[in-house]
Amino acid sequence: MTTKSKILIVEDEAAIRTGLVDVLVYHGYAIEAAATGSEGLAKALSGQFDLLLLDVMLPEIDGFEICNRVRQHDPDLAIIMLTAKSMDEDIIHGLSLGADDYVTKPFSVAQLLLRVQAVLRRTRAAESELEVIQLSDAVEIDCINLSGRCGSELLSFTRREIDLLRYLQAHSERPVSRDELLHKVWGYASNIELETRTIDIHIAKLRRKLETEPSRPQFLLTIRGAGYRLLPEGLLADS
Ligand code: CA
Repeated sequence: MTTKSKILIVEDEAAIRTGLVDVLVYHGYAIEAAATGSEGLAKALSGQFDLLLLDVMLPEIDGFEICNRVRQHDPDLAIIMLTAKSMDEDIIHGLSLGADDYVTKPFSVAQLLLRVQAVLRRTRAAESELEVIQLSDAVEIDCINLSGRCGSELLSFTRREIDLLRYLQAHSERPVSRDELLHKVWGYASNIELETRTIDIHIAKLRRKLETEPSRPQFLLTIRGAGYRLLPEGLLADS
């Protein structure tokens, strides 16, 4: 017997909330919903959900604060932010606080389901079970405890960030494209056209943690036209 994935929806607009509940129940998910930020935060911290669908503008406590507080306690809970279209700052801010992905409102049911299914799929990034990634003497990542250090600075990571680093490290002999990362680390089907900045924003966030100069990365490189490559010290960029 399979257990239904449990999703918590935090959305104050009744019409959107009800619509989301209906669609997701119809597709076989177990759903709870909250209409305010404080109710949503309390439920989100209960530890009983697999995915949080989180609106940004909410009464009492906004979605960013909820995302931030949840991440401090729970690196595993998948979070999809519901953001207004064209609100780029919201998207970047949400992902920098540890959300896994975002959907812009108004969204189509198909787009939403695609992301929900992808985020809930335990990704094949788990094909790499690296415990430690050593980028240099000063920079190392503990993949089991979602922690690390950069010099004397202590770091913490979300599960998704670790999955991303593990995948890049397992393929460090070559660049990895955005599409491959969306497919392998985020769980999206490989044949879909997806317009999203999720990968780029996660990479930028990781650079701020791992690189001395994030604008001139030493380990997490952009290979023009090819994607991203993780390059531990001692490996040659042109190898
Ligand atoms: Ca709202």
